[in-house]
Amino acid sequence: MATPDSDLDALATLRQLRADLLARSEELSVTADDPLAYDDNFADSGQVAAELGENQAAIAAAREQLDEIDAALARIEAGTYGSCETCGGPIGTARLEAMPAARFCIEHA
Ligand SMILES: [Zn+2]
Repeated sequence: MATPDSDLDALATLRQLRADLLARSEELSVTADDPLAYDDNFADSGQVAAELGENQAAIAAAREQLDEIDAALARIEAGTYGSCETCGGPIGTARLEAMPAARFCIEHA
């Protein structure tokens, strides 16, 4: 079965995004796991805690995006990529270019 070119483009984009996000969340995890990696100039532990909280929020956001990308990759395999999960209509090329992991059309976003 032939895969449409647009799906191949999406596949390459999603894989690249996935690799970037993995690298980013690993980078963040290293810092989050090691508070000593923070600059000694932090005046108080409250500031360190706040930084760590931001870090963990960023890690959580990256993991959420990874889940979305994995779901999009699964949809490419299933042949349903680019279709809205609510109405089954096309999500639209421009929207997919801006958000390759989009699962809903603009109306159902
Ligand atoms: Zn829709």
